[in-house]
Amino acid sequence: MTPRPYNFSAGPAAMPAEVLQHAAGEMLDWQGSGMSVMEMSHRGQEFGRILEAAESDLRELLAVPDHFRILFMQGGGLAENAIVPLNLSRGAAVDFVITGSWSLKSLKEARRYAQARVAASNEADGHTSLPEPRTWQISEAPSYVHLCSNETINGIEVHELPDLKSLGCNAPLVIDFSSHVASRPVDWTRVGLAFGGAQKNLGPAGLTLVVVREDLIGHALPICPSAFDYKTVADNRSMYNTPPTYAIYMAGLTFQWLKRQVEGKHQGVAAMEARNMAKAALLYDFIDQSPFYENKVAPSCRSRMNVPFFLRDESRNEAFLSGAKAAGLLQLKGHKSVGGMRASLYNAMPLDGVQALVNYMRHFEMTQA
Ligand code: PMP
Repeated sequence: MTPRPYNFSAGPAAMPAEVLQHAAGEMLDWQGSGMSVMEMSHRGQEFGRILEAAESDLRELLAVPDHFRILFMQGGGLAENAIVPLNLSRGAAVDFVITGSWSLKSLKEARRYAQARVAASNEADGHTSLPEPRTWQISEAPSYVHLCSNETINGIEVHELPDLKSLGCNAPLVIDFSSHVASRPVDWTRVGLAFGGAQKNLGPAGLTLVVVREDLIGHALPICPSAFDYKTVADNRSMYNTPPTYAIYMAGLTFQWLKRQVEGKHQGVAAMEARNMAKAALLYDFIDQSPFYENKVAPSCRSRMNVPFFLRDESRNEAFLSGAKAAGLLQLKGHKSVGGMRASLYNAMPLDGVQALVNYMRHFEMTQA
């Protein structure tokens, strides 16, 4: 296969070429079944095998303990902004840590269903830092605390999940891990529920992953739609309604690809973490030493997945982007709400891709003098 350009999209995002090729080979006939995965009944034996393998591979990859359920849903991260309070709030207060655009969106949506309040916020510094957990003003007894563990637009990542118990809070932590799921291991002792869309690190759009502790299931508000009640979804093994079958199949192939990844003595998600740290360091180190480019996020909470950066002279943005495209570096334009550039370095982005980006940035800087 001729090499493809490097794709830095924030999502839907690049997928491993091996996964796409494998799927192409099975497009018309999945393993002698005579059918494409898209044409199979979700209740048939064939799809049953695909779903089961995807779930158990994911459980192994993320080391999800037995007392958590894995749910394959639809509606994306934004639907979960409603589905989580509908299932977990139980009529009590819920607390939000505001770190950027996505947690703000989650807060606004939760207010439609629950008494949601802000426990901490970095709005004052333009979403460039992470409020220290010991400064969070957590309510007396919230039903949960919401944290976006990677802010895709602002480029902020929580590198160590907070231990709410040590802050005197017994409520479960809910994390939106949409944009860094499977980029590093998860400490499930600190998490009650994690949700995320698949279209960044797991597969194509259309699939939403929810990992939820069993005791948090079964408390939905009466107005919660049945298809969004975690108990209905869990009791029906993610098949109450027709699940996004092809997206689950593609995510399943990605899980197998992830399991095969090795970096030094690490394998799977730990290998990805080592690789992702090296990729992010390469780009941030280059940006930091350059007078031409800038990243505004505090170094201690910079995202390994989404690197927003700015040309100090913004009049050169268009030239930067068109030159990048010509050099085979795609989708580097920043989110419209912040402008500038953004390089997303999800699992499918190899170190060589980041090196190609740095080489291009250096070259562009030199030719603009
Ligand atoms: N949360 C985060 C952190 C995201 O990055 C996104 C999508 N960019 C969403 C939520 C919304 O996801 P969706 O578009 O799948 O609803």
